[in-house]
Amino acid sequence: MAPSAMSRGQDNWISSLSEAQPVPYWLEDPGKPAPEPALTGSETCDLLVVGGGYSGLWTALIAKERDPQRDVVLLEGREVGWAASGRNGGFCAASLTHGLSNGLTRWPAEIHKLEELGRRNLDEIEAAVARHGIDCEFERTGEIDVATETYQAAELRDWHKELQERGLADGIDFLDEAALRAEVNSPTFKAGLWDRRGVAMLHPAKLAWGLKQACVRLGVRVYEHTPALTLKQ
Ligand SMILES: Cc1cc2nc3c(=O)[nH]c(=O)nc-3n(C[C@H](O)[C@H](O)[C@H](O)COP(=O)(O)OP(=O)(O)OC[C@H]3O[C@@H](n4cnc5c(N)ncnc54)[C@H](O)[C@@H]3O)c2cc1C
Repeated sequence: MAPSAMSRGQDNWISSLSEAQPVPYWLEDPGKPAPEPALTGSETCDLLVVGGGYSGLWTALIAKERDPQRDVVLLEGREVGWAASGRNGGFCAASLTHGLSNGLTRWPAEIHKLEELGRRNLDEIEAAVARHGIDCEFERTGEIDVATETYQAAELRDWHKELQERGLADGIDFLDEAALRAEVNSPTFKAGLWDRRGVAMLHPAKLAWGLKQACVRLGVRVYEHTPALTLKQ
């Protein structure tokens, strides 16, 4: 391409982004709920949870579900879900070991237990999303590892065989080129390994907001724009 055409192309590219805002896609949702009021007076509770990301929200929710009499307060320094929980990739994976291959390498003796716990955890997340009517576009899609080269297809087949021999292939299917094409109609892929139940896709911010609403409905007092500043015994 001639240099002048290249620079014209670059100008177009820059001008097409001139009105773009550097904000997380998920957090710009029109369904974003208003924040709960900040804490202004004094409060007491049985359980204080600091932080309105997934860790804090699930903690508060489960604490209240287990004992509805328990007085639970959650403090969030900014707004629920604004941090990692509202801006992640939306891959809700069962694996507790960041993938089976990594888990097998590091914890071969415990891998069956780790896999079982991870699947139960994802099942419980799915059940809680349904129980509380959280509209977070939760979809148990599974996940397909794909091969784009012939040698990778052979590696996937061998890996699937190894998983079968170790009793770890439950719900995981090897897809040859034709079977994969039936799922994903692309000539790029030569084979795939489909973990049918191991991953769900969801809208991460809607999950955080839905967990907040579920907490509030159960009686958790949620205060936003309320950073915890000191801890006194
Ligand atoms: C770009 C990106 C992509 C990711 N993709 C994925 C993915 O696809 N799948 C996946 O499973 N995980 C993913 N993750 C990881 C996942 O998002 C995090 O592990 C998870 O959200 C952590 O939740 P958390 O509640 O521990 O932390 P956070 O979501 O960060 O929440 C912590 C909260 O605590 C509040 N807080 C901190 N200090 C105080 C204080 N003193 N007083 C009051 N409030 C306070 C903060 O304001 C914040 O809201 C991704 C993360 C990032 C950043």
